[in-house]
Amino acid sequence: MAEEKRRFREDAKTSEYLDIENYSLIKELGEGNFGKVVLASFKIKNQLTAIKIIEKQREEDFEYVRREASVLQIASRCPFLCRAMATFQTKSLILLALEYVNGGTLENIIEDRGRLSNKQVLFYASELVVGIQFLHENGIVHRDLKPENILVDEQGHVKIGDFGLVCTGMYGANTQCGYYGTPGYTAPQVLLEEPYDAGADWWSFGVILYEMATNRLPFSPKGNLRQQVESVINREPEYPDSLSTKLRDLIKQLLKKKANQRLGVNGNIRDHPFFSTVDWSNVEKRTLKPPIKPSHESATGFNRKYISFPKEDPSETRMLKGFDYVDPSWLE
Ligand code: AMP
Repeated sequence: MAEEKRRFREDAKTSEYLDIENYSLIKELGEGNFGKVVLASFKIKNQLTAIKIIEKQREEDFEYVRREASVLQIASRCPFLCRAMATFQTKSLILLALEYVNGGTLENIIEDRGRLSNKQVLFYASELVVGIQFLHENGIVHRDLKPENILVDEQGHVKIGDFGLVCTGMYGANTQCGYYGTPGYTAPQVLLEEPYDAGADWWSFGVILYEMATNRLPFSPKGNLRQQVESVINREPEYPDSLSTKLRDLIKQLLKKKANQRLGVNGNIRDHPFFSTVDWSNVEKRTLKPPIKPSHESATGFNRKYISFPKEDPSETRMLKGFDYVDPSWLE
């Protein structure tokens, strides 16, 4: 009887998180591939969350959203990935309530600071390696790694976000085809629409390291697809003298044009000399001290504007099966 009561209380709590009426929207945080991200409050507990609001328009997008939701759920097992607090839907909206990460993005840090020091690059690179390896161990290739998708929490630790373009089930020799990603960050195999695997993410990681250390991109993102292919396939990036020998070598190993020679797929990146001073168990425990403390807005300081959820379309009947989820930590 006591067990039944407990389960009843838990179910009631869970359904509160799955009810759009219990969220009030505060301000827009950004816009992604599939919808707006809005800061919201879960009114019952006054908890902040970043809600991704996706209108059920194109049925082709449902599969991407399902994949994004599944990764957001697995993400609760790795501290360097942004996770879902809840995923649910109404008649015409799909809602991903994400943990609110309020220190901006790595893109903001590079914009504010310009070139980062070797020590700063080492910190971000180490946390990113743990996050990327966790994704790959779970058969997930991100396909859109770039500073804009790397959020920073209020202490300064990284959280990889935006799983809207992931591919899943990438175990063993499985490969994918198809162009995804962002100009400037995309691996040659992806640009050429050749089969690719997790090596595509390690290429993007190499680009991110180069950008952190130089405040430039190694390959031009300009022009059409053919011009980008030309730049990525035929050119070698310029490595300024300010780069340390170890970091330069690491980037070169990651920007190998042949995917099977690329570090990350060919050898464990943790063993590269650039990381020789890193105690990986400390990185995994999230005990490294962030070198930059982000300046962030306080949750109470927002200028609350009235924003509302998009209007429901009563004629919409498409529901995603088995989509409702609440992270157990929210129920505590
Ligand atoms: P996305 O579609 O995931 O790329 O999100 C679009 C933008 O919304 C990002 O560039 C961030 O500025 C913001 N954003 C996304 N997720 C979060 C989050 N969990 N916390 C705070 N801001 C976020």
